[in-house]
Amino acid sequence: MIDFLDLKQVNIQYKIELKDAFKRVLNSGWYIHGKEVTIFEESFAAFCGTKFCVGVGNGLDALRLIFRAYIEIGIISAGDEVIVPANTYIASILAISENRLIPVLVEPDINTYNIDPEKIEEKITSKTKAILLVHLYGQNAYNKKIQEIADEYKLKIIEDAAQAHGAYYKNKRVGSLGNASGFSFYPVKNLGALGDGGAITTDDEELAKTIRALANYGSHKKYKNEHKGINSRLDEIQAAILSVKLKHLDEDNQKRRRIAQYYIENIKHPDIIMPISNFQFQISNSLDHVWHQFVIRTKRRDQLRKYLQENGIQTIIHYPIPPHKQQAYKEWNNFSFPITEKLSKEVLSLPINSILEKSEIHRIVTSINKFE
Ligand SMILES: *Cc1c(COP(=O)(O)O)cnc(C)c1O
Repeated sequence: MIDFLDLKQVNIQYKIELKDAFKRVLNSGWYIHGKEVTIFEESFAAFCGTKFCVGVGNGLDALRLIFRAYIEIGIISAGDEVIVPANTYIASILAISENRLIPVLVEPDINTYNIDPEKIEEKITSKTKAILLVHLYGQNAYNKKIQEIADEYKLKIIEDAAQAHGAYYKNKRVGSLGNASGFSFYPVKNLGALGDGGAITTDDEELAKTIRALANYGSHKKYKNEHKGINSRLDEIQAAILSVKLKHLDEDNQKRRRIAQYYIENIKHPDIIMPISNFQFQISNSLDHVWHQFVIRTKRRDQLRKYLQENGIQTIIHYPIPPHKQQAYKEWNNFSFPITEKLSKEVLSLPINSILEKSEIHRIVTSINKFE
């Protein structure tokens, strides 16, 4: 059986370094908000190319704390609207609605699966304050058109970078393209902890400070609470693990690009649509991709999935039910987003990760090409 993702094997690659990290944290006697978090925050900010990084408990917290901080600072208020792609993972949307802001769904581009820049402007009203730009499946979603819209309508660009650690737009990394970005270090992400974790990156000092306070019961200084905050912390142990794995991230992403290239060049099936082929890492590539997921598309998706399962190849659907069709957002169930709905019926994610072997990749390709 080729597992979709064997996390144990992924992490075992770094066993010696991880054991050192465990030992260091155990022996320090300091498990929350210490040296390891500071070191990781500094190296992740440097990696992304931002002035600040704030570690938090998970990716959803990272996103919701960005909105919450803009509310505390007075830049966004309850009832304001935030543009977000309709085909994103539901966490992006939860981060908006939880802050009593209105998510305004926009269809993706059928070729990139990222938000269609041409469909943003028609959704902008006097209440629109931000675009939550999701780099879906690991592909950069930022571009000149989006920046021009943001400039014209004075919108904040907030990146949901939970799937795209390390991806570039020209010579800048995802996480440094907008006004603030939320990352998740959930174990399956390209940069994954051994538990929950998240971070915000930004160049905005006031925002970073406000987020830091909000994540710490609303307190900048012990026992002085300026905001009605929450508790959302990146643990020392997770920060130490992330510092180890960050050193290997570019190399891991490069392995993913090579697998993507192999799939794109070798899967040939009349019923299957491949993702656009930007597997070449080039600084000029504005659609750089770190292949968090390798997503193919076919009208015969369920049949193909069953066939691959029978042939010992595990696949996953990202995502089978779009947010506007969820019970949680029943007020949107009658909305129509034809591209989003079509994608949810046709997408299928193939295994892609740094430990897949050549023989396994070969077997996946051969099996798909033989699908009748
Ligand atoms: C994983 C993910 C999140 C949420 O991250 P958690 O750490 O699981 O809370 C948010 N947005 C996107 C696009 C994600 O893939």
